[in-house]
Amino acid sequence: MINEIKISSRDIELIQAELEANKPFEACGVLIGTIIGSTALVEKALPVTNAKRTRRSFELDPKEHYNAWNEAEKNGREIVGVFHTHPVSSAVPSLWDRETMQNETSVWLIAGVDGMRAYVWENGIITVKLTEI
Ligand SMILES: [Zn+2]
Repeated sequence: MINEIKISSRDIELIQAELEANKPFEACGVLIGTIIGSTALVEKALPVTNAKRTRRSFELDPKEHYNAWNEAEKNGREIVGVFHTHPVSSAVPSLWDRETMQNETSVWLIAGVDGMRAYVWENGIITVKLTEI
């Protein structure tokens, strides 16, 4: 199980910029990198269109999501996580997030009004240590 995610300050700034640019809607994207032991190392945060474009939920545009997965695969990388933003609430999984996370194995990074936090689902929500590199 993943218990730590490492992400560059450049990618953190990029996600923060996505949050601002898509207000009042949620922004989303994928985190591409590698899993080393129990650490997810993010090499690139890639914004993906929110196909739902709502204030309370998101859906990665299927075609862009597939293209991102394909590109990662080609470069020997994987999608280690998904990010989305909470433009008007804290970086805590919403009820909708909790239900959706149960079907996912990757790390969920949430950027809220109070900063960023990361989670995984393992019989419940577990907070993952977020390290800026
Ligand atoms: Zn959410």
